[in-house]
Amino acid sequence: MNRLGAQLARFCKRHRLTEKILVAPSLAIGHQIAEGLVRGGHPWVNLRVATVHTLARAVIAEDPSQEGLRILSRAQSQALAEQVCAEVLTEDSYFGPLKNQPGFHRAVRATLEDLRTAHVAFQELLTDPTEDKRKIQELQAIARAYDRILAENRFADQFEIVRRATRKLREIRQPRGKMGVYLLPETLDLSVSERSFIDRLAGGRIHVLGVDQPTEWQTNLLSLEMFRALGEENEIREVFRRLLRNGIELDRVEILYTEGSTYLPLIYELTAQYGFPCTYGEGFPVLYSRPGQAVLAYLDWLEGGYVAGCFARMLGADVLELRDMPLGSGPARAMDAMRILRDAGIGWGRDRYLSCLDALIQIYQARLNEPDHDGGGPEDQDVLVRQLNGTKILYSLVERMLSMTPDDAQNGGISLGALALGAARFVKDCVRIAGEMDGMASAGLQQLCDELASLPERRRSVPETVERFRGAVRNLHVGASTPKPGHLHVSDYASGGYSTREHTFIVGTDESRYPGRGLQDPVLLDKERISINRIIQPRHLPILGEGPGDRKQALRSCLARLRGRVVVSYSCRDLLEDRERFPAPMILEIHRAVTKRPESDYSGLRAALGPASGFIPCDHAILDETEWWLDRIKRSGPRDERMLVRVESAYPWLGRGRQAEQARASERFTVFDGWVKDAQSGLDPRTNRRPLSSTQIETLARCPFFYLLRYVLKITPPEGWGRDTTVWLDPAEFGRLLHEIFHTFMTQITARGEKPEFARHWARLTRVSDGTIERWRTRIPPPNRAALAVQRERILLACETFLKEEEIHCHEVTPCYFEVPFGLAGVAAVPSPGSADPVSIDLGGGGDFLLRGRVDRVDQRGAEEYEVWDYKTGSPHRLREERCFNRGRQIQHALYARAVEILLARSGSPGRVVCSGYFFPGPKGEGVRIAGRDDTAVLQRVLCALCDLLKEGVFPPVPDSDFCPYCDYLSVCGDLEQIRNRLTDKLERKETGGSVLEPFHRLMDDEA
Ligand code: SF4
Repeated sequence: MNRLGAQLARFCKRHRLTEKILVAPSLAIGHQIAEGLVRGGHPWVNLRVATVHTLARAVIAEDPSQEGLRILSRAQSQALAEQVCAEVLTEDSYFGPLKNQPGFHRAVRATLEDLRTAHVAFQELLTDPTEDKRKIQELQAIARAYDRILAENRFADQFEIVRRATRKLREIRQPRGKMGVYLLPETLDLSVSERSFIDRLAGGRIHVLGVDQPTEWQTNLLSLEMFRALGEENEIREVFRRLLRNGIELDRVEILYTEGSTYLPLIYELTAQYGFPCTYGEGFPVLYSRPGQAVLAYLDWLEGGYVAGCFARMLGADVLELRDMPLGSGPARAMDAMRILRDAGIGWGRDRYLSCLDALIQIYQARLNEPDHDGGGPEDQDVLVRQLNGTKILYSLVERMLSMTPDDAQNGGISLGALALGAARFVKDCVRIAGEMDGMASAGLQQLCDELASLPERRRSVPETVERFRGAVRNLHVGASTPKPGHLHVSDYASGGYSTREHTFIVGTDESRYPGRGLQDPVLLDKERISINRIIQPRHLPILGEGPGDRKQALRSCLARLRGRVVVSYSCRDLLEDRERFPAPMILEIHRAVTKRPESDYSGLRAALGPASGFIPCDHAILDETEWWLDRIKRSGPRDERMLVRVESAYPWLGRGRQAEQARASERFTVFDGWVKDAQSGLDPRTNRRPLSSTQIETLARCPFFYLLRYVLKITPPEGWGRDTTVWLDPAEFGRLLHEIFHTFMTQITARGEKPEFARHWARLTRVSDGTIERWRTRIPPPNRAALAVQRERILLACETFLKEEEIHCHEVTPCYFEVPFGLAGVAAVPSPGSADPVSIDLGGGGDFLLRGRVDRVDQRGAEEYEVWDYKTGSPHRLREERCFNRGRQIQHALYARAVEILLARSGSPGRVVCSGYFFPGPKGEGVRIAGRDDTAVLQRVLCALCDLLKEGVFPPVPDSDFCPYCDYLSVCGDLEQIRNRLTDKLERKETGGSVLEPFHRLMDDEA
């Protein structure tokens, strides 16, 4: 038992029945001290644990005049500090440029707390006459305004509670504590006002309990060991391995950390992973709980303008209550809900959710009411019913969420209080609570929301308000607990070490974390604090530059109060940045003390510490399956074939991966390089008679592997939910919109017997353009006006280019057919010369294949002579004019020329296509027209090579610096340089797999 415990035990024994009040730094510490006594065989009666503040609150609780007083929480005081800054500071004042910075508000709150705790009067702030007077005057004004707001709203902080309690005691002029004795640990840190309160309350009945002195930090320990680890995670793992190795029960252990922001999440995650029950002295951050994550996602959704992707992330994280969803269960249910959300096509915007979901409900309902809806079988019927009900439930969830979410559009900003109320209802009604921790987090969030909702109303923009609320949520810890039986206990080193457990691990003692740097208060510098301290003594403001010294002392005090076995550790490597970390000087001090070699230096320490603990355990202290395998591989050596076989039989996919990698690295063309060995002509369009589009053919020519993934295996990348807030339509959508405008316009004027003329038709074209934009706006809402305006301007520019160029072009030709489809499934009515059937493209030698597509434009040049044009909204720079078909990569013009001749003949008006090419009216094309070259013999040769590729099932990847960076499958291909080199090797070894690669050689060797 440590000295404090021993002294308390002795006092309790001597004054068995006297009321004893142990005044501890916190209730948690006090209870641990009292429980430690009992565990150590020193029973007590009539011992009560208190803190200065619980005692002060008890005094004023009996005073009716203090009724309605509200205790100020940290989150509230932070919000009030911000409010005060907004009220007092102007843009040109001393602190003015910082008035909206959350970091400045935090600094102001801390400074105000220090000033109030030290009871510094406004006039006492006047210190160094050389300082900028405005600064001190502003600080005075801030402090005054803060006082006023507290008084107006009947808020009381800790200092105020103590002040009122002391005043109350003064009024009643007699000690309050009856016959009790107040037991104060020697090191209890009290401000002057707190000390005065305790003195008045105790009326002289104070007994000071001695504590172990920091200088004696190494004298009472059974053992003191050290280790270092590669990274913080391995540091914690090594702690657990030591428990395992030595058979130590969890409730005999306390872990103390020097920095919560790194170690708490790690300990939380690893204890959850290994199923170790754990208590946390400081609690755990609410962010790790489902309600915490839900609230942050909710705030993102709100802040980002209700982007459907944010909502989808909420669904995907499985944080929303979807219990009644009639779809899958668990993650599958969340995925189904995400699919419904995507099908609703919401995009973003608060107003679109309910209307889009309602429209989806109507669609499902209509399909159900159709006697012959798609498929029509009973299973389809069931799926449709489930989708319909799922959509209705999602509608009801979104409706509830929107009803509880304040709408800034109506009110010109939202207040923190309104947002907190909305978030509280959201947590209560919409968030899934699973388990005790979620329950604690939900309760903590409710309390935080209640506190913030009680603040004076002040509106700000949505991002500002959300940022404030997010900060409060991030700082919230819940579930703080004293040690429990069967549980590991985790605490910070300053308030830890009171559990009287036999084994203590102190983690995080590298020099970057401990003792840390003494950062000054930016609002009130240390030299100003020192000046003020000269005036106000014996009261004093803390000097922040002395922080490292204080922290060193705190760790020594902690070690001094510990008994039993202590292990101190640090991470010697920053694994993220791959650089070394060094031990804190305290580690060297411990090493010198343990080895009794005061002359030892860091090299001696390094040698004594031995190798760092890493990912591979030693001494059979194995925590999980991964560690078990790593341990076995380490013992056998990484090249042991028998071990490799064992690993691959346990993880067959690793074996298959190794086989694939070996095959790709070989000189042979294999199934792992894009060879569908058993294609057996099933992919050959000459035999399977499945129509191809010109895009598919050009894609096959550009990169057969892409074709395999997209059109044979039908692999599509996951649909992204993110959006670029500066862009309305992506390039494909932009192109479709332009096509729609040109089609509508040309159809209208041709029906009137007119040809395009800029002076005559510009107004009509802009009307068509505006109408089309309006329809697209409803379908895809723009993220903001600026994004819409930018693209509208580009659309008008393209229209202007189009009309001017068409006016010149149409002097020679007469536009006659627009958007002519052929062989397209799902196109209901096909006007002539379009056709529901595909066209047959002759390959010579009796072979042919079927082509489908849509021709943008057919113009008549003379009697039975036509031109075919395809609108391209991109840039013409990739078109290789010197090449006829560029090995099949630009073949559309030739295919469409033949298709149009066939369609014209089919419609009974035969004609000949004399020119076929591409028209670039978009902003990057500047109205360029490029007529494609044509040659039937070359066309048939290239098409035959491509069909032979399909016949053989040969789909090698062909890296292309123009195309690969934008390819959906870039992450599948990986190292393109390696792919290119490997393909070259395989192509050179014609004798292996040479026959299947022959069509590919033919294609690559074709110069046309
Ligand atoms: S990344 Fe390049 S090589 Fe790979 S599939 Fe795409 S285009 Fe082909």
